[in-house]
Amino acid sequence: MNSGKEHEKLAELLRAGKKILIFTGAGISTGSGIPDFRGPEGVWKRRQPVYYHDFMRSEAARIEHWDFKLEGWPGFRDARPNATHEAIVQLERADKLLAVVTQNIDGLHSRAGTSAEKLVELHGTNSQVECQSCGELTDPHPHFEAFGKTRRPPLCRCGGFLKPATISFGQNLRNEDLECASRFADETDLVVALGSTLSVYPAADIPLIAARRGARYVVINRGETDHDGLPEVTLRLEGDVAAIFPPAVSAALQSRGFP
Ligand SMILES: [Zn+2]
Repeated sequence: MNSGKEHEKLAELLRAGKKILIFTGAGISTGSGIPDFRGPEGVWKRRQPVYYHDFMRSEAARIEHWDFKLEGWPGFRDARPNATHEAIVQLERADKLLAVVTQNIDGLHSRAGTSAEKLVELHGTNSQVECQSCGELTDPHPHFEAFGKTRRPPLCRCGGFLKPATISFGQNLRNEDLECASRFADETDLVVALGSTLSVYPAADIPLIAARRGARYVVINRGETDHDGLPEVTLRLEGDVAAIFPPAVSAALQSRGFP
């Protein structure tokens, strides 16, 4: 368990931070009803992921992928941001947020109000569908409706395969996203990792790059992370992010005159 002193230290670091970089993982969205794909009850215990090269080569794989995405769609469509997403927006309004780099594909940061130019979704997003040929982005809703009725994977008007705009297994992260996240890691003075086991690379490199450039580094997660015990970690808080982080943001902003 954490002591009151550790919570006070978190508020202190947030108060001092001028260019805060927030790095988020699945642990911040479980409170919004989004399943943690890798946890003990995770989706991957039940379904086989479709690899990107199979999606591109096989109609059966495309059907399987759309079927999997259709199963999760109502949950994503109806999910609402929680106190953690909102606390991050408060940091932005107080002009203390450099950026949010997230591993989450639920779109809840932008739904909460985080600005697009401050948000890097390293693993893509379920809130858009992307053509694999021309790159056009469209609203998922009509595609799911159509697939639910016809069971035929949708095609772009250019003829390309449409796929929810998330990074699939076997698909590289977008270079421009990684470059953008690395630039933010160079600039930040305080990086806070929330609800991530910090075990999926290259995403988990981002907070470490920041810490190695001299930023203070806070890790808040329920359960172990791969960065526990590293000398770069300034403060490690164990427990539910939603119980720890929003109150610390309020404490830090109140004392600066942001009610
Ligand atoms: Zn297209």
